[in-house]
Amino acid sequence: AAGDEPILVADAISMHFRGLKALDDVSLSVDPGEIRGIVGPNGSGKTTLFNVISGLYRPTRGRVRFRGRDATGLAPYRLARAGMSRTFQNLRLFGDLTVEENVLVALDRHATWQSWRYVGRPISVLRRDRDLHRRAGEVLDRYGLREFAALPPKSLPYGIQRRVEIARAMAAAPALLLLDEPAAGLNGEEVRQLSEIVRSIRDSGVTVIVIEHNMGLVMSLCERITVLASGKVIAEGLPAEVAQNPAVIEAYLGD
Ligand code: ADP
Repeated sequence: AAGDEPILVADAISMHFRGLKALDDVSLSVDPGEIRGIVGPNGSGKTTLFNVISGLYRPTRGRVRFRGRDATGLAPYRLARAGMSRTFQNLRLFGDLTVEENVLVALDRHATWQSWRYVGRPISVLRRDRDLHRRAGEVLDRYGLREFAALPPKSLPYGIQRRVEIARAMAAAPALLLLDEPAAGLNGEEVRQLSEIVRSIRDSGVTVIVIEHNMGLVMSLCERITVLASGKVIAEGLPAEVAQNPAVIEAYLGD
């Protein structure tokens, strides 16, 4: 049945930077409704894989399929319109906008994005769009951010900033959400909250792929885990299987 098709397929992806093979023949298939973990030592190619999937890089070789269609090298904003959203390891919120305005720009379906620069209607116009304003309010409420609406993200604790980034990514109502190290810099309580947020996102029907170094979080959150090392997939499976895989243990020893 159509519903059983993978939402995302990376087929034999290689990404070379001059002589460096950041990704070497990486294949990956993610089913709708999954929370998939991507782990691996530093420099193993995780973020590069996200950059290929989300259209920031065109792979040297291989294809990306998203929702049954070829999506290789599509511009990020076109992938966003097709239902893919992401966050970044180093937060990329708009520093001169408020929390609410950061959500408003993500709701603007007319915007084209040039790489990560917002190119759309002026903020003042977005603010006067009552429908947009109402929807931004709903997003802020859903992620417990209403009280921070009028503040610039930079003035907020780091854990809240991370939540703003997830709220902004979710504002576009994606079918697939890519999270790049969402727990980085969070304390224990914030990691617990993050875990609940990601589960509720999945329960609302969104597929999630998460790059994460916090193994406790990955093991408890993800149904399946893909392990990268030196640009290759060295293991994939259930958390318990992957954790006992000798190749995985070996890859982490030098990290
Ligand atoms: P990870 O996310 O697993 O830490 P990355 O995907 O960031 O790994 O990096 C994989 C390898 O690719 C690293 O050696 C990194 O230096 C290299 N790399 C990533 N992006 C670029 C780029 N734009 N130009 C050159 N090398 C890059």
